[in-house]
Amino acid sequence: MSSNLFSSYPLSDKIIKVVEELGYKTMTSIQEKSVSPLLEGRDVIGQSKTGSGKTAAFTIPILQKVDLSDRSLQALIICPTRELTAQVAGEIRKLARKFEGLQVLLLAGGQPARPQIESLQSGVHIAVGTSGRILDLLDRRVLDVRKLKTIVLDEADKLLEMGFEEEISAIMQALPVKRQTVLFSATFPPGIQSLSQRYQANPLRVAVEDPTETKLLIEEIAYEIEEDDKSQVLMRVLQQHLSKSSLIFCNQKLTVDELVQKITSIGVSCAALHGDLEQRDRSLVMSMFRNGSYRILVATDVAARGIDIDHLDLVVNYDFPYDADVYIHRIGRTGRAGRKGVAVTLVKRTDDMKLFAIEAARGTKLLKLPLGFKNQHGLSSFYREAPMKTLWISGGRKDKLRPGDILGALTGEGASLEAINIGKIDVQDKNTLVAVSSDLAETAVERLRSGKIKGRKFQVRLV
Ligand code: ADP
Ligand code: MG
Repeated sequence: MSSNLFSSYPLSDKIIKVVEELGYKTMTSIQEKSVSPLLEGRDVIGQSKTGSGKTAAFTIPILQKVDLSDRSLQALIICPTRELTAQVAGEIRKLARKFEGLQVLLLAGGQPARPQIESLQSGVHIAVGTSGRILDLLDRRVLDVRKLKTIVLDEADKLLEMGFEEEISAIMQALPVKRQTVLFSATFPPGIQSLSQRYQANPLRVAVEDPTETKLLIEEIAYEIEEDDKSQVLMRVLQQHLSKSSLIFCNQKLTVDELVQKITSIGVSCAALHGDLEQRDRSLVMSMFRNGSYRILVATDVAARGIDIDHLDLVVNYDFPYDADVYIHRIGRTGRAGRKGVAVTLVKRTDDMKLFAIEAARGTKLLKLPLGFKNQHGLSSFYREAPMKTLWISGGRKDKLRPGDILGALTGEGASLEAINIGKIDVQDKNTLVAVSSDLAETAVERLRSGKIKGRKFQVRLV
């Protein structure tokens, strides 16, 4: 069966009702392709982009089959990070809200095991966890998997990338041989195939390559502009969509530089990313954008290609993208990893035809909004005060420095800094970049200058 209506699948009224209440009108493509085989009990390997609804794709069949009267573990979902376990558990609880008595448990590391063990003892139907904690609980013989029907490896590509293969292998060995093994992933690196061969039986592979699927997580807005007030409009856009990290796309290097100058001139720190920068400067800019030292990055398409940023709240098409592919590629940088993002496009009247083409390719209409007639002078303090500053240290991997050494040096005895004041520690070959809360950055520099790291003196300065 293939239909995109939830009601045409053999699902309980409870599930149909919940998805209706959640406002899911139709199934996403990956759901449409994987729900039936999963309901039939087949091993499935599913691939589709982030934000395409994979969680519901495996959760709905699990809920359909769960036996509430049996308080033993029936489904286990393994995720690569604690954040993802929490997200998935949240999504499951959302979908399961009409399943009275259903126990869903989070088995994430970094939290005391005791409450988890107590919950397990009182009976849990579905658990979501990281491989380390799951293995730990299996070793302690407090996780009883004898009645397990379904195991899901969510974000399988990341599980491999993060090196959890051995832990997963150990978990798999503990599970019943007769079980359903499900693999979901956003990409399909070679390792996944061997993972599948090792643990799945006669798996069905379903893949969706549909750029329109990202629309679930991205709010797309168009603002109409006149050519000569572009940078003014941009300021108002930034003001209207206060964002911790924004990426602004221009079509040309020259525009990038001009715009960076304009933004800098009103006291907001932002950085340029374009092809004229040396690799070293590019990676410095990227590091500082990622660690929160810049809230705003202005880039050309070429320079932004291949850069990977986890949490981008806002993408602005300052210049109208050349075509629909460029558009989709640009806005696909936000709305990742299950977080909502906003994509703003500045549109001239003469861009209308191009806008149609994009809407046709996306299968959506951009929300056309007027910008308030607010007389904005510059940007608020939100942008003027970036949350973090970056410290440069003259040692790196070659000096055997590790993030822990630097954290230790900064927060050790007598320090006024704590771990929460310190952000990303990016240890490179010959030097290290450390993000520190802006207000404590000077203190951090002084502390490192007057002390030692791993018993040695290094040069330290604010970037
Ligand atoms: P993925 O795991 O593929 O990255 P998620 O499972 O996190 O994606 O889903 C992304 C978002 O889409 C979630 O907010 C989820 O509630 C929503 N969603 C899932 N299925 C549907 C649907 N059929 N219709 C509308 N929204 C959906
Ligand atoms: Mg997911």
